[in-house]
Amino acid sequence: MKRTVYADNSATTKISPKALDAMMPYLTEEYGNPSSIYSKGREAKKAVEEARRKVAKAIGAETNEVYFTSGGSEADNWAIKGTARRLAKKGKKHIITTVFEHHAVLHTVSSLEKEGFEITYIKVSKDGYVDPEDVKNAIRDDTAIVSVMYANNEIGSIQPISEIGAICHKRGVLFHTDAVQALGNVEIDVKKQNIDMMSMSAHKVHGPKGVGALYCRKGIILQNLIDGGAQERSKRAGTENTAGIVGFGSAIEEICENIPERAKRISQMRDKLLANILKIDRVRLNGGMENRMPGNINVSFEGVEGESLLLWLDLNGICASSGSACTSGSLDPSHVLLAIGLPAEIAHGSLRISLGDYNTMEDVDYISEKIPEIITRLRAMSPLWERIVKGENK
Ligand SMILES: *Cc1c(COP(=O)(O)O)cnc(C)c1O
Repeated sequence: MKRTVYADNSATTKISPKALDAMMPYLTEEYGNPSSIYSKGREAKKAVEEARRKVAKAIGAETNEVYFTSGGSEADNWAIKGTARRLAKKGKKHIITTVFEHHAVLHTVSSLEKEGFEITYIKVSKDGYVDPEDVKNAIRDDTAIVSVMYANNEIGSIQPISEIGAICHKRGVLFHTDAVQALGNVEIDVKKQNIDMMSMSAHKVHGPKGVGALYCRKGIILQNLIDGGAQERSKRAGTENTAGIVGFGSAIEEICENIPERAKRISQMRDKLLANILKIDRVRLNGGMENRMPGNINVSFEGVEGESLLLWLDLNGICASSGSACTSGSLDPSHVLLAIGLPAEIAHGSLRISLGDYNTMEDVDYISEKIPEIITRLRAMSPLWERIVKGENK
């Protein structure tokens, strides 16, 4: 019998049964528009506000500091474009971000560059960490916003967010973080951590796809990205995705209930799998271990082509990712792996495994058994591997 092992939790996660249950009434009988004044509408409105309370509570925010969006990408676009365009009117046309952000941030800033903004990209260390000093040195009088991701989606490195936030505040610059990956995996407190704006997504925390949120600290003027009706206190138009929002509220509440316990269980599985993978000849680990997402493994195998590896894993029922799901379909090596200094040919042989709540030690054993078999088979067919080994024997 073929088994399926889902090990791509950084790409998306399975919906929690509890979140699905919470959503069902709003997909069936409770279909009222939250803006309507009759009871069916008020019922839906109440559910949206209850979900808002849950999201706020999970991150240490006040309820009215949370705005629902269509997901993490929209939250990133909104925070950065809204702030940049607003502050441009005050002559602030400089944006600071990092070289290894998610494309939702990188493509947002490059679109702003075409509008006349200047972008500074902070480099990261070979282990995938941002040095807060580099952020400090990059800040100028005309800097509008600093955007540094909380945890990287490919290599799992967790950034010194509080320090970077403190530096920004000292210089009076707004600080945004894309916390889509970090949410539910590390404990987040936006107030203590000096975060002004933060992007979140439901489908990375066992909620439904197509819904997320932007946290925006009280007092910061949030310029609209989507204009229209008066939803989200006139800040984000469009009839609320009631079921999605309710599912997000339920999922975030569930996942943030016991972060240390879950992180411990997931990282134990990760460590065992990683130890097994590192026994393979000519493999390297990408990203540092000291501050790393509990479920993340990112490794490069010499003499192996990432896409072939994925296909063979798939034939064995294992779902994983090479580099980033968002760039698959293109043959460019991952910008994250290049940013930490990997040569393009090594980056091509990379594999990301992201474990999560629904994985088990049996999954770890199964992946541990399959990967060495597949690597051996792929290398046996690879002229590249032959050259690598010969070069070594000379
Ligand atoms: C998945 C992801 C996003 C995009 O979120 P969506 O809800 O899919 O739009 C943004 N940033 C990071 C770091 C992600 O991992």
